[in-house]
Amino acid sequence: MATGRTTVTEAAVREALGKVQDDERGGDLVGLGMISGLTLRDGHVLFSIEVDPQRGPALEPLRQAAEKAVAAIPGVLSVTAVLTAHRGSGAAAPAAPQGAQARPAAPGGAQSRKLPVTGVGSIIAVASGKGGVGKSTTAVNLALGLAALGLKVGLLDADIYGPSMPRMTGITGKPNSPDGKSLDPKENYGLKVMSIGFLIDEETPMIWRGPMVQSALSQMLRDVNWGTLDVMVVDMPPGTGDAQLTMAQQVPLAGAVIVSTPQDIALLDARKGLNMFRKVDVPVLGIIENMSYFCCPNCGHRTDIFSHGGARAEAEKLGCDFLGEIPLDIAIRETSDSGHPIVVSAPDSPHAEAYRGIAARVWAKLRSGAGPVAPRIVIE
Ligand code: ADP
Repeated sequence: MATGRTTVTEAAVREALGKVQDDERGGDLVGLGMISGLTLRDGHVLFSIEVDPQRGPALEPLRQAAEKAVAAIPGVLSVTAVLTAHRGSGAAAPAAPQGAQARPAAPGGAQSRKLPVTGVGSIIAVASGKGGVGKSTTAVNLALGLAALGLKVGLLDADIYGPSMPRMTGITGKPNSPDGKSLDPKENYGLKVMSIGFLIDEETPMIWRGPMVQSALSQMLRDVNWGTLDVMVVDMPPGTGDAQLTMAQQVPLAGAVIVSTPQDIALLDARKGLNMFRKVDVPVLGIIENMSYFCCPNCGHRTDIFSHGGARAEAEKLGCDFLGEIPLDIAIRETSDSGHPIVVSAPDSPHAEAYRGIAARVWAKLRSGAGPVAPRIVIE
């Protein structure tokens, strides 16, 4: 891969991709309108290739060829190409501008009435049908995966009853308040982080009543000096009750991802999460299966978003995308619980790669405007 200070341009990337042929469709990736969500940041390049899901398993060589073509451009430091299901017409959506304008507008309803958070591009929720499925572990590694793409990322711990971000990000101490009204977020691993856990003693029992929970969330969202962010990841409280619903309503969410274990997918807890976001007009970007399989260290990573069975099929039945699977591995538990999440402590591991792949898919969906499509719920 080429290195150096050469500035990489969108035109150069499109030119390189214009030389990659999709033999089956008889044309190149650009000419066929298959490229969307192209993002350039300091030599890091990310884009999605929109394909017919039926062809998915056979397209890994095409994805690799596209990455290789772009990697050869002088100045390119990293390339991430993800396959995404094309949206009907096959036309590529125009790339949204960076920063505050990057948040896709919701088509109407409650979302469009919410005030955006100044300077913050897309806000996404990480939610789960119940506790203990690895939602916070996923949230922190997803946030770090997005940062690894070269994005400016914030992490808001909205799990007010059981904040885990101080522990998982390895951050201690109280946030500064420069003016006595607003708070500066804490920072580690390139993430800006805010959690109620920074403000209260970990041992203090929290008997919060609904209205207090709401005001705490809105303060952490709006009274924190987040600065300019491409993405903010919100770690929601587990579950799908009224408190979670009201919180989802308060935040101008561009989308939500649902974390689920295989058992929860079977028990339909994931469906409850989908329904909750549907009620408040928040597009569900997809499901992440956590503790998906037991990981043998010799197996290598898995990138088979299209070719894997169970959970993906279930996600399809539920009418939303399957974003990826994370194995059950002691390394993931030890690193997240000790404040050194695996994406930063073992960036070359297959697990870190899996989280980065999920992050790339999430970002590509946000950028390509796929987010606002309402999930289709299948009632059986
Ligand atoms: P939640 O936010 O859903 O309550 P956590 O993220 O706090 O769940 O995870 C619960 C426990 O499971 C933590 O100890 C965490 O380190 C561990 N854990 C989460 N995901 C994995 C995984 N893929 N492999 C191993 N341990 C995991």
